[in-house]
Amino acid sequence: MARAIIITGGNIGDVKPRLRQAQQLINAGIGIVLRCSHVYESEAWGFAAESDFKNQAMVVDTDLSPEELLVAVQEIEERLGRDRGAEAAEKARTGEPYSSRMIDIDILFYDDRVMDTPRLKLPHPLMQERDFVLAPLVEIAPEKVHPVLGKTVEELREELLARQAAVQNGEV
Ligand code: ADP
Ligand code: MG
Repeated sequence: MARAIIITGGNIGDVKPRLRQAQQLINAGIGIVLRCSHVYESEAWGFAAESDFKNQAMVVDTDLSPEELLVAVQEIEERLGRDRGAEAAEKARTGEPYSSRMIDIDILFYDDRVMDTPRLKLPHPLMQERDFVLAPLVEIAPEKVHPVLGKTVEELREELLARQAAVQNGEV
């Protein structure tokens, strides 16, 4: 049994019920959802989007291996309407690195496993740069120590907010 932390999100259509469905499918197909954050709303990160994103993080106990977990979350994405073809077309049209999506499910942590393969990177490599990840994560797992950075999730969020404030104040 491993403890994984997963984040769900989306910004197309009625996202909240879809996040609820994702949580139910995760609970039924991946493992018991032990803790679940509120739904957080934020502006799109890394690209210009028409609609804001909603995100929710959860702690899940699972018997799946990391690879099996990735396959399982991608199956749930597909079931909830994720259309990678449409997203690729939007990226090609806008030239942006990201696109709007119905549902995105990323694995943030899998116990303290560190992995770096083309298909799966653990912990998720950009979490420390993204407040839309850290804000819900702090709610459910503030004391979780990042196995590579050696800091708690709460410390990572404080550092990110301090960096963002310094940029806003013109200090960097
Ligand atoms: P995004 O980077 O916006 O989440 P996708 O959801 O399309 O984009 O994911 C792109 C690829 O990222 C997936 O096909 C998956 O193989 C890979 N990936 C690597 N590490 C992870 C992770 N920790 N969680 C989810 N996907 C991951
Ligand atoms: Mg993803």
